[in-house]
Amino acid sequence: MSVSDLVLELSDTIPDFPKPGIVFRDLTPVFANADAFTAIIDDLAARFAGKYDAVAGLEARGFLLAAALAYAGHVPLVAIRKEGKLPGEVLSETYDLEYGTATFEIHPGQIVSGSRVLIVDDVLATGGSAVAATRLVERAGYVVGGIGVVLELDGLGGRDRLGDYELYSIVTEA
Ligand code: 5GP
Repeated sequence: MSVSDLVLELSDTIPDFPKPGIVFRDLTPVFANADAFTAIIDDLAARFAGKYDAVAGLEARGFLLAAALAYAGHVPLVAIRKEGKLPGEVLSETYDLEYGTATFEIHPGQIVSGSRVLIVDDVLATGGSAVAATRLVERAGYVVGGIGVVLELDGLGGRDRLGDYELYSIVTEA
């Protein structure tokens, strides 16, 4: 089975989670399948081969992908964390949620300036978190090598908000 078929077959759709009216796509059953998780990492690594020197994961589900990609490629791992989790000097970017705002942070100066950073997360929805991540990567002095997600929810404007960055989704669905 192809990697996209594995994602579609194994993922769940949970109505009214985490709040009434939200339809949540749950990828944890996909990650719990060793063949599917391995295929995801292999696919993302192949798609961006030669285009990144480091991997950044978005807290928290992006960490699962970023750690495996960093190990597979033997490249540095950068954590993009929610506000208040990183000690010391940080750069912060606040972005809009459906209700309210959220803030991501990064530690500057931990990897070589000018590194091409592959940003990964499980799901792309409105793109707000991915846009914030691109800003942090650039403000830290790196270059965005690409953005890789397992599932892109089409129609929420995420791809448009990411402009000219190279965005790859294993599965795109309406
Ligand atoms: P965005 O910022 O693109 O609107 O939302 C993407 C972020 O919210 C990602 O970090 C992703 O993990 C989370 N997210 C939004 N919708 C879903 C969903 O339906 N399922 C999962 N697993 N994560 C979601």
